[in-house]
Amino acid sequence: MTNFLWDLYQHQQIRDAKADARAAAESVGARADREMDRLRDRVDSLTLTNLAMWTLLRDKLGVKDEELEKRVRELDLLDGVQDGKLSAGPWNCEKCKRPNSQRQRRCLYCGHERAASNPFPMV
Ligand SMILES: [Zn+2]
Repeated sequence: MTNFLWDLYQHQQIRDAKADARAAAESVGARADREMDRLRDRVDSLTLTNLAMWTLLRDKLGVKDEELEKRVRELDLLDGVQDGKLSAGPWNCEKCKRPNSQRQRRCLYCGHERAASNPFPMV
């Protein structure tokens, strides 16, 4: 009888664990969907703003499409790879001089905060 009760208890534990795992997976999926929507909205907004700036330059200053394409290629090659992306290399800490990832605002080694003087650190 004790074994039977123990087995029932174990089966219930397994069912509960499966339900918890299903709920956690759904939660992660829903969070990922929300984040994807947020990023998509942000890209759409940046694309619209970029298009507005480009058409202003073209219409008001007479900048040609070829000049824009040439500049895009030049900027793309700043990191040495023509891949259609801007990617800055590591930044060197002003205090300890060690290299840090661009994703880090503070030095991993000494905690010194990076100066935010250039909004485009790769140019
Ligand atoms: Zn440092």
